[in-house]
Amino acid sequence: MKLRDKVLIVEDEQSISNFISTVLNANDYDTITASTGEEAMSMITSHCPDLIILDLGLPDMDGLDILRDVRSWSNLPVIVVSARTREHDKVEALDLGADDYIEKPFGTSELLARIRTAIRHTRTPLANGGIAQSGKFSVGALTVDYDKHHVLVDGADAHLTLNEFKIVALLGKYAGKVLTYDYMIREIWGPKAKADNQILRVNMANIRRKLEKNPAEPEYIFTEIGVGYRMRDTDE
Ligand code: CA
Repeated sequence: MKLRDKVLIVEDEQSISNFISTVLNANDYDTITASTGEEAMSMITSHCPDLIILDLGLPDMDGLDILRDVRSWSNLPVIVVSARTREHDKVEALDLGADDYIEKPFGTSELLARIRTAIRHTRTPLANGGIAQSGKFSVGALTVDYDKHHVLVDGADAHLTLNEFKIVALLGKYAGKVLTYDYMIREIWGPKAKADNQILRVNMANIRRKLEKNPAEPEYIFTEIGVGYRMRDTDE
């Protein structure tokens, strides 16, 4: 028998909680639910879920406080599902270590795809952190070759500069996940880098010219406006 992943749904709106439970149960996940922050905190330690779906607006605390607490001791995947749509809220959640951020209302296939991605990342051992990685990442006609340090489109070298390669390599490593501008700048230019978003945007424009058929409608690297970038995942 296949071992089912257990998802903790932290949501105070009963109808949304029921909806998510129903969708997940129909797709082979076990679910447990909490409607307050306090309940969530105790269930996280007593039930050891494989993933948490976290609403931010809870009656007794801010979901970000739960995220902060979980991240202080664990890399358990957390997907924030929230009605807050300001860029600042997204950036804050992602910077605190949320694996993903989904705005309400959301579609079921989007939710399921993001859950699969978040769970898979915790099961994929990553070498050395940073962008050190071996092997290849492929999606569509795009291949990132981590050993040879180049990116191929339809089998042809895209001739990326070193920084362009680092950006694509980093996004490929976390395909499906939104990486914030700050996170990317720290990973690529170092923790003390004076780089700003502008330098990323310039690099991204060049990358898209080299990788995308139509840079204005990218197929591989998507912009999450005001937040960061996301590489298309293999199963998208
Ligand atoms: Ca709520």
